[in-house]
Amino acid sequence: MTVTMEKVVNLCKRRGFVFPSSEIYGGFASTWDYGPLGIELKRNIRDSWWRYMVTSRENVVGLESAILMHPRVWEASGHIAGFSDPLVDCRVCKRRFRADHIPEKVDRQCAKGAECDFTDTRQFNLMFKTFVGPVEDEAAVAFLRPETAQGMFVNFLNVQQSGRLKPPFGIAQIGKSFRNEITPGNFIFRTREFEQMEMEFFVKPGSDDEWFEYWREQRMNWYTQRLGIDATNLRFYDHPKEDLAHYSKATTDIEYRYPFGWGELEGVANRTNFDLKQHSEYSGKDLTFFDEESRERYQPYVIEPAAGVDRILLITLLDAYREDEQEGEPRIVLRFHPRLAPIKVGIFPLLRKEGQPEKALQLRDILKERFAVFYDQAGSIGRRYRRQDEVGTPFGITVDHQTMQDDTVTLRDRDTLEQIRLPIDRLIPELIQRIET
Ligand code: ATP
Repeated sequence: MTVTMEKVVNLCKRRGFVFPSSEIYGGFASTWDYGPLGIELKRNIRDSWWRYMVTSRENVVGLESAILMHPRVWEASGHIAGFSDPLVDCRVCKRRFRADHIPEKVDRQCAKGAECDFTDTRQFNLMFKTFVGPVEDEAAVAFLRPETAQGMFVNFLNVQQSGRLKPPFGIAQIGKSFRNEITPGNFIFRTREFEQMEMEFFVKPGSDDEWFEYWREQRMNWYTQRLGIDATNLRFYDHPKEDLAHYSKATTDIEYRYPFGWGELEGVANRTNFDLKQHSEYSGKDLTFFDEESRERYQPYVIEPAAGVDRILLITLLDAYREDEQEGEPRIVLRFHPRLAPIKVGIFPLLRKEGQPEKALQLRDILKERFAVFYDQAGSIGRRYRRQDEVGTPFGITVDHQTMQDDTVTLRDRDTLEQIRLPIDRLIPELIQRIET
């Protein structure tokens, strides 16, 4: 079975993970809205990242900086001068392409099969420009941030001094970023509004190579161990030295095998002291660190793992998607790691009699305090299981005739299909154990 983007996009729409934005108006190019199940999945991804990167470590703290920042930030960071993609226009079909990503002729739909007639390449800045306040003049220009990272750099002193932190330490942030991409596409892989999870880890120069290696490994482990992504669908891509951004000493992408080929999922970069140096120069503030013990003053180097929430959400769906047959019926199942599953437990009365629905509802009220649960009494039990399998619910609890006698229920596992019977008062510890391991 091959997982196609089309299958995943359809499932997302049908079951409420992701909808085309503004759909009743015909949609809005390459923008998407997350539905009830999509936001639960997204929250689980963010929570797992936050726990792994921030709360489980004593040397990483969080930040939430504003999307709108002082325009000088983007001069200092190099985004105004350099954050651009090479762009060409076709004079025949009027379409616009990234000069380094021109699709094959068959995929270009130039008018009546004619050849595209391209203009010269020009640089197109990817930042969204807006105006702050009532006057739309150059003095009021502001940009929607194209990355969250600059929020951490400009708050370096605030965070370091208020927390009395010493390198090595990190500042992490999750939030929206905006890029006026020339060729967005592939569903939520490349959009103009997206969410990033970035961490800037400040280290003493000289220890940067070692920390770079450390974070590269840590980040790969998060995907395989915490999200349960199949390791054979992931790989490192080390950027050759000649392709590195001017500020980067080393960059490695973590790539995923998408249906459209290998592509970036996350970037890990050694940004040297470029950002702090630039902001020191542009702001006139001394962004160095004085080590009381060694009596040394230095400008920390930065190791940055930068990931996109939307791309991760896409790969969790692609990686989990399976089609099989159960009891002669075709089944779609999302084999999410239980930690990621938007709904953890489906609760079903086997029959709508003997007080089974009431008992199942009582159980729902107990379990919903701890887990995302879904109660369903409509249709055959097989169909109810399949509806939950399709959205990746890892566990199903059925209240049946025997429950009414001895307070036991059956617990069904989505992947092994194994059903065990256990007393209601053992359910919570059993579920916690299965979700967390
Ligand atoms: P690409 O080469 O795919 O354009 P990038 O190298 O510009 O990506 P970074 O600046 O390293 O991306 O951003 C870090 C992460 O943010 C990426 O690995 C990706 O997960 C996410 N990301 C970047 N741009 C987009 C986008 N337009 N849509 C969705 N996610 C994005």
